[in-house]
Amino acid sequence: MNQREVIVCVDDEEGVLRVLRAQLGARFGHECQIATARSGDEAVALFDELTREGEAIALVIADQIMPGMKGVELLEIVDRRLPATTKILLTGQAGLDAVIDAINRAHLNQYIAKPWDETALLLSVENLLRQYRLSYENQQLIASLSAKNQALLEMNRELEAKIHERTHELAEANSRLAQLAVTDGLTGLYNHRHFHERIALEVERSQRSGLPLSLLMLDVDHFKQFNDTFGHPAGDEVLRQLARVLADTRRANDVVARYGGEEFAVILVDTAKFTAAKVAERVRERVTAHDFSDGAPPGKLAPLTVSIGVATFPDDGSDAEALVRAADTALYVAKRAGRNRVALATEAVAATPRDPLTLT
Ligand code: GH3
Ligand code: MG
Ligand code: MG
Repeated sequence: MNQREVIVCVDDEEGVLRVLRAQLGARFGHECQIATARSGDEAVALFDELTREGEAIALVIADQIMPGMKGVELLEIVDRRLPATTKILLTGQAGLDAVIDAINRAHLNQYIAKPWDETALLLSVENLLRQYRLSYENQQLIASLSAKNQALLEMNRELEAKIHERTHELAEANSRLAQLAVTDGLTGLYNHRHFHERIALEVERSQRSGLPLSLLMLDVDHFKQFNDTFGHPAGDEVLRQLARVLADTRRANDVVARYGGEEFAVILVDTAKFTAAKVAERVRERVTAHDFSDGAPPGKLAPLTVSIGVATFPDDGSDAEALVRAADTALYVAKRAGRNRVALATEAVAATPRDPLTLT
């Protein structure tokens, strides 16, 4: 214990104080300071002073019968202000009521009847000093544990905040990655892989719901020539612009993807062949009408056109792969028929022979 321990003796008789000082000093003087007060008020002032100076008041021995504040009242104050401090009440023979009072009100540790036996007094004081030290150490341990606990809680809070932040960052990174994984770098449209996942999914959905599903395969006409004439950077810009035209033409649930190179695919959900043909024709017209000159030296660019093949599930293919193949075949038919046109898949040709968009 780094504080000095103090035993405070309070009695209005100087003779009693002298004896106490002598007996206690001889036995405990090497480890404790023995302080005295002549009244309760003086004792309270002494407690304040000792506390201010950082002394540890280990024990208060108070006489019961004193002018002014009685011993019990003083010990009650001690009990309230210095809970770790131990307390002895000194009483005359007739003071048992005061003792009971002190036990109840001031949590008295010990009472000693006047005149006292020196050995018994010293033994009591020794026990109470030991009790005080134990309870003091206990308090220190609790304080240190509570400080450590506080620090741990703080660290835990910081850790949780960090985890929360990291989790959030991770979720964002994941969502960016997920977005990147399905996105075509040049155009920002869905990529080839995502297209295949979606067409399989949509075919399944269509199978379950019985609602039709159509697919447009679109290819830029004579794009090689464009690249050869204006260079690949200009070609890239055309593809970007074309992607925008397709995205702008797209209806709410349509899926627009870059299939690869200068080929694009549009999945038209809940769309039958007739409507799909109309959508394809509208796309073709929009592309033809679009001014792509941003991507080429002004004036030099012939109007850019696209050919489109249309296939519908389940009429033109019984699964996703067959549907893509059918749309591809239709696209090939459109190319062969002179480009800048829409062709429906072969099966559709038989079903709507007089369809003006159909090629034979
Ligand atoms: P067709 O009308 O028969 O489709 O003729 P085409 O020239 O468009 O067809 P072809 O398949 O011979 O050529 C496709 C061209 O598209 C060749 C290639 O340089 C170009 N291309 C494919 N991907 C890109 C790209 O990412 N950027 C650019 N600038 N060009 C591309
Ligand atoms: Mg082409
Ligand atoms: Mg091509």
